[in-house]
Amino acid sequence: MSKSLERDSKATSVDVVIVGAGFAGLTAAERLVNTGVSVLVVEGRDRVGGRARTGEVAGVQVDLGATWVSPRHTAIRDLASRLGCTTTSQFDEGDNVLWMAGQRSTYTGTIPEISPEALEDVGRIQMALEELTSTINVDAAWESPDAGRLDAISFGDWLDQQQARTSTRALMSILSKVQWGCGPEDVSLLHALRYIRAVGGIDHMLSVEGGQNQDRITETTQEIARRLAQQLGDRVVVGTPVRRITQDDSGVTVSTDSEEINAKYAIVTTAPSHRADIDFQPALPDKAEGVTKTWHLGTLSKAFVAYEKPFWRSSGLSGEALTDTGPVFITFDVSPDDSGPGVLMTFCDPRVFDGFNSEDRRGRVIQQLVELYGPQAGIPIDYVDHCWSAESEPFAPGGPNPAVAPYTYVSYGSALAEPHGRVHWAGVETAGEWAGTMNGAVLTGQQAAERVAQRVAGSADKGAR
Ligand SMILES: Cc1cc2nc3c(=O)[nH]c(=O)nc-3n(C[C@H](O)[C@H](O)[C@H](O)COP(=O)(O)OP(=O)(O)OC[C@H]3O[C@@H](n4cnc5c(N)ncnc54)[C@H](O)[C@@H]3O)c2cc1C
Repeated sequence: MSKSLERDSKATSVDVVIVGAGFAGLTAAERLVNTGVSVLVVEGRDRVGGRARTGEVAGVQVDLGATWVSPRHTAIRDLASRLGCTTTSQFDEGDNVLWMAGQRSTYTGTIPEISPEALEDVGRIQMALEELTSTINVDAAWESPDAGRLDAISFGDWLDQQQARTSTRALMSILSKVQWGCGPEDVSLLHALRYIRAVGGIDHMLSVEGGQNQDRITETTQEIARRLAQQLGDRVVVGTPVRRITQDDSGVTVSTDSEEINAKYAIVTTAPSHRADIDFQPALPDKAEGVTKTWHLGTLSKAFVAYEKPFWRSSGLSGEALTDTGPVFITFDVSPDDSGPGVLMTFCDPRVFDGFNSEDRRGRVIQQLVELYGPQAGIPIDYVDHCWSAESEPFAPGGPNPAVAPYTYVSYGSALAEPHGRVHWAGVETAGEWAGTMNGAVLTGQQAAERVAQRVAGSADKGAR
């Protein structure tokens, strides 16, 4: 991996330039290299991994971004295992804590048993959602029956129409914040339904055992990207934002601040709204331009608090909590083992978190942990947080996934992955199945590589004739 393009000048002419060194970009590069196609991956940040980033608290490496893999996420699991990375089961023993309407209680399983009526209402809403998701075409949601109607309202509007109880709405709001980085009122119902279907349904989405939160990567998720980049060597350059992509019948020219790279094709893997930071010549068609203006990422922040020991375990608690009062709305136990340090990972709502200075953020998180886990939570040994929408993340600020607003999916969804001449798109937002996950990102990288490799081979055949 190189720090800039000041390297072997021959490398500035390759078959394919890949923009972005997240999972999509790096796996596209790996697949192309394996088929004999020359590549250069150009990354704007000074690191690889994109939305996967490693942090440290009390000497323990933690995932500031992407964390979990499900047993069904075979593409990212295969990649991790080929690179010598292993998985650790998410700790899930004991009771979970619920803080709702100022009341603390404990529960077991995925859905809190607030009261029999509340539980019944959550079941009713979940069933109605699952019924609607079964009608959605994951690969072309805009072609689903009733797509226009489902896209014209927000998930929040739909919860109102269903007369969801306050407690159900609070739980759906937590789900929305963690999946899309926004409240239910800000996300299109069609986008929510399509996403739920793409990730295997609500149970799979929220469960630990057998579900999306089953395992963590022991070495951290960014380490997978680092190892893959290491294998790709000088084919990956970091700290080099792409500013312009021009194309004509013979190829593309990708411009950075210091260099022009000539190639036959480009694969762009940035989040959709970040395509707007690149000057495309010729310009993107109107619909593709619309994608860059409307598919904004939601926002999400994370904080990790370390203790001498995972003290909650000895009180029979799992370290898993849901709360309806900010900034923390979910916690998980990501301690290495029983002996310590104990580490609680918390998801925080940026609206009531990011604007505070770091001392205030720490104070607010710890205060909430005391409410959830008792006075011992007030004696931490270390703390770290990461605000994904902060300026320290200039090339992809935001959160996990786009918060696609009503009317946006049907209008622009079909342009997300439609190639622009010699420019092809990959990245998790272009995924069908497993959208929103590292697994989806890997699949889109591999699929884009296969499509482009065929074209490169086709142009070589023509040249040989
Ligand atoms: C807080 C958080 C928690 C998450 N939790 C999970 C989880 O538990 N499990 C899971 O599976 N997924 C999770 N995700 C989602 C997962 O991280 C993403 O789906 C996946 O990493 C996306 O990979 P990608 O390659 O498509 O995009 P990215 O990782 O966004 O990569 C795109 C790259 O393009 C670069 N770039 C942008 N513009 C330019 C430019 N002009 N020039 C050059 N480079 C540019 C960016 O810097 C970035 O490195 C989480 C994400 C976040 C933020």
